[in-house]
Amino acid sequence: MNFSVLTIFPGMFDDFASHGIIRRAIESGCLRFGAVDIRDFAEGRHRVTDDRPYGGGSGMVMKPEPLAAAIKAAKDINPEGKTILMSPQGRRFDQSEAQALASFRDIVFVCGRYEGVDERVYENYIDDELSIGDYVLTGGELAAMVVMDAVIRLVPGVLGNENSSASDSFSDGLLEHAHYTRPDVFEGKSVPEVLLSGHHENIEDWRTESALIRTFLKRPDLMLERHFSEQEKQILQKWQRYLETLIGDNS
Ligand code: SAM
Repeated sequence: MNFSVLTIFPGMFDDFASHGIIRRAIESGCLRFGAVDIRDFAEGRHRVTDDRPYGGGSGMVMKPEPLAAAIKAAKDINPEGKTILMSPQGRRFDQSEAQALASFRDIVFVCGRYEGVDERVYENYIDDELSIGDYVLTGGELAAMVVMDAVIRLVPGVLGNENSSASDSFSDGLLEHAHYTRPDVFEGKSVPEVLLSGHHENIEDWRTESALIRTFLKRPDLMLERHFSEQEKQILQKWQRYLETLIGDNS
């Protein structure tokens, strides 16, 4: 997979590319990554990339010429590349969006600054517009890192173990089950016994129920849209019977 990021602060991506999974993905050849300085495409001694907005008002706007030239240069290298503008006005990024992007070979991320990009660049060069949430950042760099990080871990081979993203929160519509590691007892709290039993079927059942409980308590909205499996329905019916007993005992 090829990620190109167009930014006026390419140095922000040095750490991003040199740690953990991203670094390993680059070293193993799963990911080719480049942060391109939009200033390199700006004319004049000062390589200016912003200008005052037509119509007046506060703030500056990213000039169209350097940005368009930077996008064209990125497209020359990756002609099939999808060009994504990071923007608070874009479609909200989520796990299913990450899954969809993981099937692309080349993605060019455009990071805005100031009040954003000139509208004509948006109209002529941008294929898609993504937001990481309903708040306004000072620039698109952190947003692009969020998207790239979520996407690259879904690319086969990147995490090493294919299963490690399969049970992640949101991948099948629920939050992931609880996790425990050694020691068996920590500050008086024990690891659930079933996890020490070595009984794989029981452990899987426990994990399914743990995922349902956590989703119900933390993100009940996710349950509203869910088509429950037979196993999940049985667990919910067990809760229902338990709640009816509780209510019955108190009435
Ligand atoms: N004036 C713009 C508006 O109100 O829609 C906000 C511009 S913001 C200060 C500068 C840049 O940060 C944007 O062009 C975009 O690239 C990036 N940005 C800000 N918030 C973002 C978000 N929630 N998701 C993705 N990118 C964001």
